Amino acid sequence: MSVPDRPAADPPRAAAPGAGPLVDRYGRVATDLRVSLTDRCNLRCTYCMPAEGLPWLPRADVLTDDEVFRLVRIAVQRLGVTEVRFTGGEPLIRPGLVEIVRRAGELRPRPALSLTTNGLGLDRLARPLREAGLDRVNVSLDTVDPDRYTALTRRNRLPDVLAGLAAATGAGLRPVKINSVLMRGVNEDEAPRLLHFALQHGYQLRFIEQMPLDAQHGWDRRTMVTAGEILTALRAAVTLRPDPVDRGGAPAETWLVDGYVDAAGRPARVGVIGSVTRPFCGDCDRTRLTADGQVRNCLFATEESDLRAALRGGADDAELADRWRAAMLAKRAGHGIDDPSFLQPVRPMSAIGG
Ligand code: SAM
Ligand code: SF4
Repeated sequence: MSVPDRPAADPPRAAAPGAGPLVDRYGRVATDLRVSLTDRCNLRCTYCMPAEGLPWLPRADVLTDDEVFRLVRIAVQRLGVTEVRFTGGEPLIRPGLVEIVRRAGELRPRPALSLTTNGLGLDRLARPLREAGLDRVNVSLDTVDPDRYTALTRRNRLPDVLAGLAAATGAGLRPVKINSVLMRGVNEDEAPRLLHFALQHGYQLRFIEQMPLDAQHGWDRRTMVTAGEILTALRAAVTLRPDPVDRGGAPAETWLVDGYVDAAGRPARVGVIGSVTRPFCGDCDRTRLTADGQVRNCLFATEESDLRAALRGGADDAELADRWRAAMLAKRAGHGIDDPSFLQPVRPMSAIGG
């Protein structure tokens, strides 16, 4: 079904169906759940949060491990979710992470399990996570230059990230992906260098266009580095061929890199997620759960649905599933970043779960 980026007016809301998967008014079905395990982080990436950090969620508001697991179980067993990605903030600083992954891996049907992390501590945790059932990992790395890394993340931790990436490969997590955000005047020239680093180590690199989700509201459409610019820079360094594999609901457009293979011996790929200039909202299959138990039907949603209050108020699984369905039914057609009426969500990316 073709969905416009954002319609002039959203169609009237229908009642949520009492059973079945997470369907919205445009016929999209959400099967990919992003679970934020904490809003806290041990880095301070300049495009994400200020140097002093953010007012973190009170601990009592954050879902317990049992509560997270219960909602993941409902998503998988009642709502048709087939993929669960743990994120944050920084998910590796959540003490119960390995156990949450293990319990999620025991669910039937078994969801695919993945993690998005800044990589700090992954050298220690990659193996326990793999043994607990984690399938794959995305590590965020925007530069391989130590000084730039320190300036960009406000922490001198590049060696830890590199050790984490190596440990992920060693533990058998496949694929190991790298997420990179390029910023004008900071690391915009680094696309080919990041690509060569990834190719050399068998990691799959994906560039993400910077989005208006920073806590400081410093994003500027006019200066952001676009997917088109990134591709031009890559093509100056390597030959890219169209990827024959169907993209499905995946946000990244991918290309095969001529002459290179990945860690599994398959043709190497590079991806670009053009969230702003090449929106993929029409194929979006995501649903999100924040660390404090709010369902978000979009990164850019301005409304949330409070599952924590219902859960702590004694709601049974069927009622929680119904609330989740209702929240997804209200999903808008698109993020509408280019719409004059666009409003940046109150929560920044780190509190939503990227
Ligand atoms: N701390 C973990 C990490 O950095 O991977 C997980 C959370 S982080 C919010 C998830 C992803 O969002 C990272 O790849 C990060 O680079 C990306 N991100 C954060 N702020 C962003 C922004 N304003 N635009 C685009 N991507 C952003
Ligand atoms: Fe932390 Fe990830 Fe945000 Fe960087 S992008 S500050 S690692 S949450």
